[in-house]
Amino acid sequence: MPIYVYEAKEPKKGCAKCAHGFEIVQSIKDDHLKVCPDCGAEIYRVLQPSWLNHSKTDLHYRAKRAGFHTLKRVNKGEYEKMY
Ligand SMILES: [Zn+2]
Repeated sequence: MPIYVYEAKEPKKGCAKCAHGFEIVQSIKDDHLKVCPDCGAEIYRVLQPSWLNHSKTDLHYRAKRAGFHTLKRVNKGEYEKMY
């Protein structure tokens, strides 16, 4: 199963686990995590497994392939989705 990397949107609100990012093994059928399983802070997915990049339906992949960053740092600890 693929390994996903998540990180707290606002590290100051996160715990030791999510503030610096953590890896978690999930089935591709599982929903992406939105909050840290330990402290409940909001998190976002940092990386996705390379083999998933072959999915034509993956929005992140298409944005990435088009040369766009899917996340833009707009403020300290704040990110904006860029599609
Ligand atoms: Zn946490």
